[in-house]
Amino acid sequence: MEIRPGIHRLELPLEGGPPGGVNCYLIRGTDGYLLLDTGWNTPDTFDALSRQVEESGASLKQIRQIVVTHIHPDHFGLAGRLRELSGARIVVHKNDAACIRSRYVEIDGLLDKIARMLKENGVPEDEVPGLRTASLAFVKLVLPAEPDELLSGGEKLSTGVFEFEVLWTPGHSAGQICLYERSQKLLLSGDHVMPLTTAHVGLHPESGPDPLGDYLKSLELLRHLEAELVLPAHEHVFTDLSRRIDEIVAHHRKRDRAIIGVLRGGPRTAFQVAQRIPWMLDSSPDGTGWSSLNSLDRRLAVMEAMAHLEAMRIRGIVRRRTPSGMILYRLASGNGSQTPGNPN
Ligand SMILES: [Zn+2]
Ligand SMILES: [Zn+2]
Repeated sequence: MEIRPGIHRLELPLEGGPPGGVNCYLIRGTDGYLLLDTGWNTPDTFDALSRQVEESGASLKQIRQIVVTHIHPDHFGLAGRLRELSGARIVVHKNDAACIRSRYVEIDGLLDKIARMLKENGVPEDEVPGLRTASLAFVKLVLPAEPDELLSGGEKLSTGVFEFEVLWTPGHSAGQICLYERSQKLLLSGDHVMPLTTAHVGLHPESGPDPLGDYLKSLELLRHLEAELVLPAHEHVFTDLSRRIDEIVAHHRKRDRAIIGVLRGGPRTAFQVAQRIPWMLDSSPDGTGWSSLNSLDRRLAVMEAMAHLEAMRIRGIVRRRTPSGMILYRLASGNGSQTPGNPN
């Protein structure tokens, strides 16, 4: 689908992944093309990519730059294979580039850190091994590739036809970027802002200490952009960016309130909190309980609860102590009846 002359949206299927697959964007330049995100490394996704590139009048060999919004498998998986075919340069934010080896090459060290973190946050001993390895199937969907160029944010990426400003928007991933085309009033928003679902933001060994705080700050960065159209990496193209930002902020405040409700019952681990609040799944967008989450969703849920608890600790709403190696959160005194971020 041609969004604007010279900007094609490629809709790639992800078997076993998000239901609508992933959107990659093929962008014309004066000498070849820029491809934003790649899909993951399976034959089906690769075939769909090749076919759609050809249908849009280009060929894989003409790709000059492969820009990756972040290194999750659905965005980065095929980058190495496409570079082999085209000779294109792979461009990634430096914070995500720093995680390629630990996530996709020598993964045991990271899995051990994740297991330790989960245990400290109350995940029972017998559940830890299942949660530790819950993402292994996705590791195989990436052909690990060293980037050719690292970004910090603030750069301009030009194709000769379009000029994109690189916006560093950490939170969903420490090196997540968005691209903004000022003259076209287009924002390519990656997983940072999507029209229907909210991006996973979890505390992770590689996330930094306050990923949710980072995420909400990154959202505010975008609020005043003049964007007529937002091109996300999943779901549909949309307008009214600031309204969507409001909805996402409201979602996180609601989750804060749910967590505070749980902590009113006394000190809890992040695991206990995660078991007691509703979670949204693609299959049940209205919210579901802990018992219907699979291992990966449970791991993401605990990490998301951890991110909320740490963000509230930094804001002084909750306190943390670690008796006998287990992290317990409780409401800070005086905060028992306050709801954070209540607009009234
Ligand atoms: Zn992602
Ligand atoms: Zn994604």
